[in-house]
Amino acid sequence: MLSPLLLAAARSERVRGLVTAVPLTRGVVDRFVAGEDLDAAVRTVADLHRDGLKVTLDHLGEDTLDRARAEATRDAYLALFEALGDLAPGADASLKLSALGQALDDRLALDNARTICAAAQRAGMTVTLDMEDHTTVDSTLGVLRELRADFPWVGVAIQSMLRRTEGDLRDLVGEGSRVRLVKGAYAEPSSVAFQSRHEVDLAYVRGLKLLMEGDGRPMIGSHDPRMIDIALALAAENDRKPGSYEFQMLYGIRAGEQRRLAEDHTVRVYVPYGADWYGYFMRRLAERPANLVFFLRSFVSR
Ligand code: FAD
Repeated sequence: MLSPLLLAAARSERVRGLVTAVPLTRGVVDRFVAGEDLDAAVRTVADLHRDGLKVTLDHLGEDTLDRARAEATRDAYLALFEALGDLAPGADASLKLSALGQALDDRLALDNARTICAAAQRAGMTVTLDMEDHTTVDSTLGVLRELRADFPWVGVAIQSMLRRTEGDLRDLVGEGSRVRLVKGAYAEPSSVAFQSRHEVDLAYVRGLKLLMEGDGRPMIGSHDPRMIDIALALAAENDRKPGSYEFQMLYGIRAGEQRRLAEDHTVRVYVPYGADWYGYFMRRLAERPANLVFFLRSFVSR
């Protein structure tokens, strides 16, 4: 009931104004976001690295209709690679193409992403394209294809909630591919997406099967213990070595489990940072209504 409302609010400028104006929101946001600036991101990466965790960094921002902002996002990634130096070998950057100008022009987003990929390659890092709402999937997969011609290691997130996903996965399971399978964080109509948790979970398992049987590198983007257990069972069934797949979880969610799993497996933490945290934060609230209670309590206990 609450999730669709929160996801609608994630795209409302009015609610954004209200939520971001309250200084106390910060305490709750800090649970999910590493900080507003590059220094905070670098500090978080160092801490996670010390605990044996790999990272993928997201410079927060989305849905820009402004060319200068898209270029500023591109430049923020270039500054990030510079600042990281040798701190986190094998680090990855997660890109939202809508922050790089996708809604203005696919070409602009592609050019910005290409510049980021070239810099990532020089820094010894990789790049993964986040997947946004269903209207962007064709464009994102088109950009992925173009990028992979020059940078075959570029990865992509694929959402099990979308009905089209099995077909997309079949196209993506070839050698060298890197696919992050997630359940999907956007409000989608039933014409394109499964609506019940059960259907989304079943589709997730079908996706895991395809990825584990394929020749690429499956990236299991989930905190769900059942999905993690099934991924481990499928990895064993397909004789996969632990280094040939990885688990990915979001910063601040099931942090203990991230460390426990990292004792025997590759675990990568998705680390968002930057001032434009609103949309990301609202999706985290929508995923778990208990977070909303925690958030509202911070107002009451002022
Ligand atoms: P769920 O069944 O939702 O959760 C399982 C358990 O995890 C819950 O019981 C709870 O204990 C914990 N949990 C999950 N979410 C929260 C939360 N917000 N707060 C507190 N506890 C929580 N989605 C996209 O649409 N596009 C992307 O590009 C994308 N990238 C992602 C990258 C990574 C690394 C991860 C982990 C997720 C990403 N997502 C993305 C989000 C994803 O689609 C889901 O919305 C999110 O992961 C919750 O689903 P779940 O698989 O963890 O399962």
